[in-house]
Amino acid sequence: MSTSEFDLIRRFFTHATPGALLGVGDDAALLQVSEGNVLAVSSDMLVSGTHFLPDADPFLLGHKTLAVNLSDMAAMGAAPRWATLAIALPFVQGKETSHERLHPNPPPEGEGANESLRELMFTVDEEWLAQFSAGFFALAQQHGVELIGGDTTRGPLNLCVTIFGEVPARQALRRSGAQAGDEIWVSGHLGDAALALAHLQGRIKLSDTEFAACATVLHQPQPRVALGQALRGIANSAIDISDGLLADLGHILDASQLGAQLYFPALPASPVLRGHYSLPLARQCILSGGDDYELCFTAPVACHAELTDLAARLGLPLTRIGEIVAKRGCIVHDAAGNPVNIEVRGYAHFG
Ligand code: ADP
Ligand code: MG
Repeated sequence: MSTSEFDLIRRFFTHATPGALLGVGDDAALLQVSEGNVLAVSSDMLVSGTHFLPDADPFLLGHKTLAVNLSDMAAMGAAPRWATLAIALPFVQGKETSHERLHPNPPPEGEGANESLRELMFTVDEEWLAQFSAGFFALAQQHGVELIGGDTTRGPLNLCVTIFGEVPARQALRRSGAQAGDEIWVSGHLGDAALALAHLQGRIKLSDTEFAACATVLHQPQPRVALGQALRGIANSAIDISDGLLADLGHILDASQLGAQLYFPALPASPVLRGHYSLPLARQCILSGGDDYELCFTAPVACHAELTDLAARLGLPLTRIGEIVAKRGCIVHDAAGNPVNIEVRGYAHFG
């Protein structure tokens, strides 16, 4: 790595880390987990063109890069503490437009094109990095997360965070813990992110205010970290909704070897969907839309009142959407009690 890259790390990615024994700057960070807790560890990678558009706002991208990882901590009931960031940055030649910045020409190869010449001609986009790290650290600070290391390299824009959280050993919320008879709950609303994406892709046309509301969820999701920790000792199982309700609830059902009955009219649809759209689109966004980063969890019926109180305390809607049953499979009922026909079950990267 060149000196200038050390300089970038120092300028953009080195903040105080009082919660770590050793943070950025050595060959590895050193962490001490609190007595009685175990470490919850998870990685999530965001790839340009797959998870975000190349011209995505860098501040919001910094937020989202950390948010999707915080969401995994929430889904485990863990308190997020530390993160590492591995980042591949494209070359930039001089001061170009943001489009050219993210689709840079390759550096010259062959004779005369030694490392130092390349360094001179191609630098990283510092304004982009400043915005990205500002978005990342704003959310990190909100949740008390410290950036304790990472890797910085050149290549097509690629962002990978590994997050470390703490949770009392027996209270981690696993996918495998659901019990027959559990109520199934969902936080917040479903379908906003899918609606915003459909609008951006030209598949639907939202009004400006509708799009603004949905786009906030797509670009700046709020990970349900406080909810996740509050569910310790209450929820039997939990998952965050990144690939769509049916796909993610399906992971709980598979891990727990159980089934579910859902009631479609009970699902907490995005306010934008209410009364505006034809049923098939609404169904698809609510049941299979990804990227909402809400939590889906199951809890004993006896916890119902406690969860209603928790929703009021957190100022976050919690909606009971169905129940866990012994018979495998997931059936969604419409208002008349008939099974809803479900075509698209969720986002599959290799599907
Ligand atoms: P090494 O060569 O030993 O892997 P590096 O030169 O890659 O170390 O990184 C130097 C230090 O900077 C290490 O402590 C590493 O964890 C940290 N670091 C590198 N990139 C980042 C980044 N994007 N964000 C935070 N810390 C980083
Ligand atoms: Mg390294």
